[in-house]
Amino acid sequence: MLGAIEAGGTKFVCAVGDEQGTIMDTIQFPTTVPEETIPKVIDFFKQYPLNAMGIGSFGPIDVNHESPTYGNITSTPKPGWRDFKFLETMKEAFPIPIGFNTDVNAAALGEAELGAARGLDSCLYITVGTGIGAGAVVHGKLLQGLSHPEMGHILVRRHENDAYSGKCPFHHDCLEGLAAGPAIEGRWGEKGIHLVDRHEVWDLEGYYLAQALYHYILILSPKKIILGGGVMHQQQVFASIYKYLPEFMNGYVSLPELTDYIVRPDLGDLAGITGSLLLGKQALEEASHE
Ligand code: ADP
Ligand code: ZN
Repeated sequence: MLGAIEAGGTKFVCAVGDEQGTIMDTIQFPTTVPEETIPKVIDFFKQYPLNAMGIGSFGPIDVNHESPTYGNITSTPKPGWRDFKFLETMKEAFPIPIGFNTDVNAAALGEAELGAARGLDSCLYITVGTGIGAGAVVHGKLLQGLSHPEMGHILVRRHENDAYSGKCPFHHDCLEGLAAGPAIEGRWGEKGIHLVDRHEVWDLEGYYLAQALYHYILILSPKKIILGGGVMHQQQVFASIYKYLPEFMNGYVSLPELTDYIVRPDLGDLAGITGSLLLGKQALEEASHE
């Protein structure tokens, strides 16, 4: 039996399941401060005889196995969570193999193995929600270098009619600063869910996301692109991406049929937690090879 944590900036989802990604029990609660949230996590898992666990966490996090701060949340502005020793805390409570990666990498793994990109050895999963993040699977493995990629913070060319200053606390008008959920709210004065009929909102959203995809396609050449997260519940954003991406590409790279290439997650909102189960499965396999 495997445990899984999808640790988001707004909510924590915990689940137990098996190596096929089947979830048997699940619970969720709001992300407050570690002293309050973590004991709830531990209480839930103490009910089960776990063999391994996977954690997909909001970030940035330290995913470098060689680093002294491996397993920590690092420079988050979220109160109480900066430098939190996430992996160490869970290891103390559960001395079993524990996989640790970003929430978006977990979702990418879930979609690669069991979702929209199953059977393919590469894909890109992007979430557009409170922030923007992406996880890439290359040659069947999550792409990692010095650390995990941070594709949400790339710079994009501003639309000539867009005067919004941008919301990213680090870079102002990076992709996340211009196109994540809080940027939509900041620019238009209302949450996305109340702007459904405003065509210009979603047209501009697609304009920025299409630019990001243009870069990701040129650099990574993924075989499938999956877009999840709250903002992508607006189907109209896909239409805008399908319109703008060929304009940016201008025939340079020939793209597959876009409606088949750039898709919603097959696992829906379960991509992250299912992928976290698979991180647990990987940790178990790695431990058995040591
Ligand atoms: P998180 O990123 O915190 O895990 P979500 O992926 O749900 O959570 O993203 C939350 C953001 O997405 C908020 O900024 C919210 O306004 C926006 N959002 C959520 N649902 C929708 C929707 N149906 N349409 C447009 N925007 C949405
Ligand atoms: Zn940024």
